Amino acid sequence: MVTLQLGTRHAREIAERVPDPELPMLTLADLGVLRDVRLTEDGTVVAELTPTYSGCPAMAEMRADVAARLREAGYERVEIRTVLNPPWTSDWITPEGRRKLAEHGIAPPDAAPRGPVPLTLSPTRREVPCPRCGSADTEETSRFAATSCKALWRCRACREPFEYVKEI
Ligand SMILES: [Zn+2]
Repeated sequence: MVTLQLGTRHAREIAERVPDPELPMLTLADLGVLRDVRLTEDGTVVAELTPTYSGCPAMAEMRADVAARLREAGYERVEIRTVLNPPWTSDWITPEGRRKLAEHGIAPPDAAPRGPVPLTLSPTRREVPCPRCGSADTEETSRFAATSCKALWRCRACREPFEYVKEI
């Protein structure tokens, strides 16, 4: 049992360090998509991943990367499972992950609203502070940046464009 526990911890550390294909400054642990990693008695590593944004093509790449890293580390039998429930939300990005995004000039997602959402007739204006200068005087220029997970914003104060990881 001790060996299984050590193997599980080792396999988890390897999977946690795999970078996200679309936000390579984040690891899968930072992103919060790694639900479980365990070594079973027959020597198979079972890793459970939850996809981030629906339609995000990164999921296939993520699965392949985790499997490849584990095989490189000597685990011959790797099983990657997709867990859809509960669905991932941008809240699962760790504080460390948010710090890394900001460091790279990318605005981290707002915390998703919790509890009952008040019903309003007009959409509330979202405020995304500029990750470079901190100004709240920003505007969305494109709902879709290079990937579907990010939107393109511009800061009116420092005039710099920046990417924003959408909240879901
Ligand atoms: Zn700015």
